[in-house]
Amino acid sequence: MSREELLNLQEKRFKRTMELAFKTPLYSEKFKEAGLSLADITSVKDLGRLPFSSKQDIVKDYRAAIADHSDLAVFHTTSGTSGTPTVVGYTNNDVETQTINEARNLLTAGFKKGDIIINTTPYGMFFAGVCIHDAIRRIGAVVVPAGKLASSRQQVDMIHFYRPTGVIGIAQFILKWASLYEDMFGEDPRESSLNRGYALGEPVPEGKRKRIEDVWGIDLRVGYGLTEVGSGGECEEKHGVHWQEDLSLVEVVDPDTSEGVADGERGELVYTTISRTGTLAIRFRSRDSSFIVGGDCSCGRITRRVMPPEFRLDSLIKIKGTLTSPFAIDSAIFSYDGVRDYLVVVSEDSSGLDRVDVYIDSDVFTPRQIESLYDRFGGKIWFNPSSVKIVEKDSIPVIGRKGKKIIDLRAEADYGDELKTFLEKYGEHPQ
Ligand SMILES: [Zn+2]
Repeated sequence: MSREELLNLQEKRFKRTMELAFKTPLYSEKFKEAGLSLADITSVKDLGRLPFSSKQDIVKDYRAAIADHSDLAVFHTTSGTSGTPTVVGYTNNDVETQTINEARNLLTAGFKKGDIIINTTPYGMFFAGVCIHDAIRRIGAVVVPAGKLASSRQQVDMIHFYRPTGVIGIAQFILKWASLYEDMFGEDPRESSLNRGYALGEPVPEGKRKRIEDVWGIDLRVGYGLTEVGSGGECEEKHGVHWQEDLSLVEVVDPDTSEGVADGERGELVYTTISRTGTLAIRFRSRDSSFIVGGDCSCGRITRRVMPPEFRLDSLIKIKGTLTSPFAIDSAIFSYDGVRDYLVVVSEDSSGLDRVDVYIDSDVFTPRQIESLYDRFGGKIWFNPSSVKIVEKDSIPVIGRKGKKIIDLRAEADYGDELKTFLEKYGEHPQ
């Protein structure tokens, strides 16, 4: 398909979506408030005239955003990273469309027919697990549905037993499993059957990607998406995910003025579905901060690329008076070789000042590197940790579904018993 053919297809699908949107309580109400009728919106060029929508709109009444109730097939929820989960209704059409979307992502990421892929993405209320499951089958590959297994040991056992060629999951878990693989089987993970990985669910700094590629001897690609909208996957350029622009539209706006910004400029990603008939997302403000990679891609694909967001606008944390993102901390720590895992604990000392204690799982981390970590934090993140401590291998507890790395005790005192035990043993912060 040429770029021109793609734009024509967008027009056709956009128009049909607008007809559907005007029939939903949520969007018809919004459009009415903005003084718009269906006749005013005739082309994708009119997109900027439409009012924004948000997660809060869908949370308030998830049924109000659904267009075709008669074809509904399944409900899923988002992970609720910022509070209440959002319910998304998929019609049979939407399930099929998103399966195609994911299948294309997998092909973009280098998977192919005949691969055996272990899918460790959670199955259940989250859509990603089951959708990727179907997409793996769709490209003619074999799926090992490991997404329900509880422990890392079980996942690693499956990797050894089924001899998959590919693994899909959360980056830091894929990393963690390498040392476990070595411990459990006494074999070098580089000699395992894996040759490809696909990391979802959180941003992956380059240092961390390199580390995962090195320890497993694989090619690691990143995927990014939203349950409410769609998703994209990285090609061999590893520089932004190809967005499936015939399925949903992407814009970038200045989060303060809401004005559109040019390709290459950072802002809030805003999405509009043009192929769904269940829950519609029209100018949906994602709260994800990133940019569109301008220009053609060397792989020859005609779709534009979205740089996976380094942070959500809601996930920034204020430490010692400065806003920082978990991604910036992740990047700083994984810029060193030999890091297996880490945990950052933010708390308040007795005089009410913030303190930041860093725990690192590594046996090659030297005192000299610890000193430079202080510098690196200071340089990139604008605060110095109060302490840096090396902890025993695999002692860092997994907190939450995605394995939270920044624990903010100022915001929440109780993160469960595993963390309590860990901090009793290693804790530097005042108990
Ligand atoms: Zn490309």
